[in-house]
Amino acid sequence: MATSGSKVSRVLIIGGGFAGLKCAQTLAGDSRFEVTLVDRTNHHLFQPLLYQVATASLAAPDIARSIRQILADAPNVTVLMDQITTIDPAARTARGQSGTSYDFDYLLLAAGARTSFFGKREWEQHTLGLKSLADAQAVRRTVLSNLEQAEITTDAAERQRLMTIAIVGGGPTGVELAGAFADLVHRCLKTNYRRIDTSKLRVVLIEASERVLEAFDADQSDYARDHLKDIGVEVWTGMRVDEVRPSELHFNDGTRLEAGAIIWAAGVEAQPLTAQLGVPLADRAGRVTPNPDLSLPGLPDIFVAGDLVRMKDAADKPVPGVAPAATQMGRHIAKLLKEERRLEGTRFAANKHQLRPQFRYLDKGIMAIIGKNHAVVKSGAMKLRGLIAWFAWLLIHIAFLIGFRNRLSVLLGWAFAYLRNNPVARIIVYPPGIVSPDRE
Ligand SMILES: Cc1cc2nc3c(=O)[nH]c(=O)nc-3n(C[C@H](O)[C@H](O)[C@H](O)COP(=O)(O)OP(=O)(O)OC[C@H]3O[C@@H](n4cnc5c(N)ncnc54)[C@H](O)[C@@H]3O)c2cc1C
Repeated sequence: MATSGSKVSRVLIIGGGFAGLKCAQTLAGDSRFEVTLVDRTNHHLFQPLLYQVATASLAAPDIARSIRQILADAPNVTVLMDQITTIDPAARTARGQSGTSYDFDYLLLAAGARTSFFGKREWEQHTLGLKSLADAQAVRRTVLSNLEQAEITTDAAERQRLMTIAIVGGGPTGVELAGAFADLVHRCLKTNYRRIDTSKLRVVLIEASERVLEAFDADQSDYARDHLKDIGVEVWTGMRVDEVRPSELHFNDGTRLEAGAIIWAAGVEAQPLTAQLGVPLADRAGRVTPNPDLSLPGLPDIFVAGDLVRMKDAADKPVPGVAPAATQMGRHIAKLLKEERRLEGTRFAANKHQLRPQFRYLDKGIMAIIGKNHAVVKSGAMKLRGLIAWFAWLLIHIAFLIGFRNRLSVLLGWAFAYLRNNPVARIIVYPPGIVSPDRE
């Protein structure tokens, strides 16, 4: 049962991403709450810039920050690194891989999403994802190592395989990656190799539907496709992947593509913990639909937020799986809990979710960058594209990074390297498959 009177409420937050972190930050310093934030990593990750790590423009620490450090000044918040494996909503407890039990009065499950292979988990071993820092570093290591091997090999077919990057999924992540790889290889690396001709590097962007960037208007999709083609990306629309083998994609029309790097950016699904909440899953992606206040049906003290939620908000608009939505949900839940403690004893526990404020999503729009100097932005009735959209993207992300890293020097270094076509993060620490060269 939730605590009452002067007792402290124990809030367990699973996940230090956009939703979980914002909830913890909003409850920080409020002594009525004893917050435990558990994340399987020790850092909060700014996923929108993962593609820059994957394409060697930013180093991993530039887009991630220690959760413990962010919450260092919040004495009522304890940060623990553990992977939650079980949740028992009735017993109000969760358990981590470490064997630790976490009892709670309130729970926020904000564990986000993972790469979806549409039920074909076996494809994962032949592809690279882009959801974590480890993923981004694996993409970068694979692509740069492939180019090194291509520079050495004398086998023309093998060289072409090594010099082909296939990106499955024509949403913002796929488009941003394709544009950045085309820039990296055709602009930035072209003078770096002596034996291979980097203009022969193929970047193939594959999309099952008829257009890329489906969340944008058709003219913006067309603009993105045309610009990608201009910078040397092959855009294959209407192509559904039927089979994935090592270095090989097979398509519905019988086409086969050999690629040294296959990057899977075709969709996400909720972390499997949602199946333990005791409520029906809302879709095949394993998401759950909460009450309008973000608590679960029949479980008013258990909340969900972020990418694992499928819902319409108070204005009946579907809430998208984007960072601002997750942040707003995390803040909504924390405010609601604070208000609930203030009004304690004046409301009936049985129907409290009906009395709570409903979540309303403030949609600030969407944007996608398409290589250097080009982007598309859609915000309400406003649509931008080209250089002006790219500047809007740059300003928003630079502003974010300044707040995030608090290190102007990193940003200036990045901006300078970016403008000069000279990405800095090109070091391969260990080639793929090798833990440490000396240990081998
Ligand atoms: C490549 C990429 C680009 C993107 N670009 C944009 C963009 O440009 N704009 C935008 O708005 N959105 C973008 N998004 C989407 C955005 O990042 C997500 O919507 C947002 O991160 C969701 O926040 P969240 O809190 O639900 O989950 P996340 O931010 O993913 O956080 C979930 C946290 O839970 C932790 N976790 C997971 N499982 C467990 C467990 N079992 N135990 C403990 N901890 C666990 C994870 O380590 C993680 O820290 C992008 C996403 C990706 C992958």
